[in-house]
Amino acid sequence: MIYLDHHATTPVDPRVLETMLPFFTGMFGNAASRQHRYGWEAGDAVERSRQQVAALIGAGSKDVVFTSGATEANNLAIKGAAEARRKDGDHLVTVATEHKAVLDPLKRLERDGWRLTVLPVKGSGLVDLAALQDAVTERTVLVSVMAANNEIGVLQPIKDAAAIAHAKGAWFHTDAVQAAGKVPFDVEALDVDLASITAHKMCGPKGAGALYVRRRGREVAIAAQIDGGGHERGKRSGTLNVPGIAGFGRAAEIARAEMPAEAARVQGLRDRLLAALGAQTDGMTVNGTLDARLPGNLNVSFDGIDGEALLVSLDDVAVSSGAACAAAEPSHVLVALGLSKDRALASLRFGIGRTTTQAEVDYAAGKVAEVVKRLRHQGAYGAYRALGA
Ligand SMILES: *Cc1c(COP(=O)(O)O)cnc(C)c1O
Repeated sequence: MIYLDHHATTPVDPRVLETMLPFFTGMFGNAASRQHRYGWEAGDAVERSRQQVAALIGAGSKDVVFTSGATEANNLAIKGAAEARRKDGDHLVTVATEHKAVLDPLKRLERDGWRLTVLPVKGSGLVDLAALQDAVTERTVLVSVMAANNEIGVLQPIKDAAAIAHAKGAWFHTDAVQAAGKVPFDVEALDVDLASITAHKMCGPKGAGALYVRRRGREVAIAAQIDGGGHERGKRSGTLNVPGIAGFGRAAEIARAEMPAEAARVQGLRDRLLAALGAQTDGMTVNGTLDARLPGNLNVSFDGIDGEALLVSLDDVAVSSGAACAAAEPSHVLVALGLSKDRALASLRFGIGRTTTQAEVDYAAGKVAEVVKRLRHQGAYGAYRALGA
């Protein structure tokens, strides 16, 4: 079985696992225990990770709030900003191609009385900055635009979008899960106020994530959404997942060190996959622009194919159509690009990552081409029979 679904999750790097293991057994302390060595060891590991995660995104370590993942980080950013700024306005802005972990918290706020603008995207998958400019007003308290899309890999113009938000006094949040560790992402250079990331998309463990919260320049005082012992400077209570956080830090450190070489390698494999698919199949289109895109992402649609049959036939290649969490429905991202329901369903998302080899990419391209040909042949035969010939 070949794994080409690195946008859904990634395997833990063996170096990350090695870093994590001692914190399950000998060094099992609670990072909040200040009275003995067990607690100090755990606390030191958490602070080391905080620095490693901060370094990956150009933040200060005090700006990093550890969470259970990016779903929680997005919820904390969005609900925490709305609660903190209730008196400043009543309006929120986002984009149609966001992850559900951004759209759904915003829709809940809309049910609670906030006004929500969900901007369409251009055919490229990129947000229209002129439309964003028109949407943001003095009543807008938060704008949320993802850095890199998890289905089509397109990289949004975050710096420009943040500047548009700030010009009207709104805070700017970005879901940077797919960008962090894959392409340069720096909270200072982009001037974002809140950014969500997660370990398991960068060869770290599941269940560890972080929210960057700006302290320098603009004071972004979000309201906590989980109350308790006052952990994480009161922004997120709960005993810290020390093994997970230790692994997250190591994963961030590795991703940062290896990014230039790894991005080039992965992009080489992506381009090879695209070329091989293009050479072996016709009636294929790439969804989303290739000009501003994650190195490891490819998303394509095939003419005249039943999407479900396509996925079922790819029995030894793990790819997906759309996001992991929303299978069987046409992807809201592809629909936002203007694809029909059928065409959105006849799409494949390839996510190339650290473990992917050239041989795997070559095999996958051949297999997809063979399946597409077979399904088209069956489809044509079925149509011929339906005509009563
Ligand atoms: C995976 C993903 C999430 C959710 O992250 P979890 O840590 O699994 O909760 C959020 N946003 C994007 C863009 C993602 O790809």
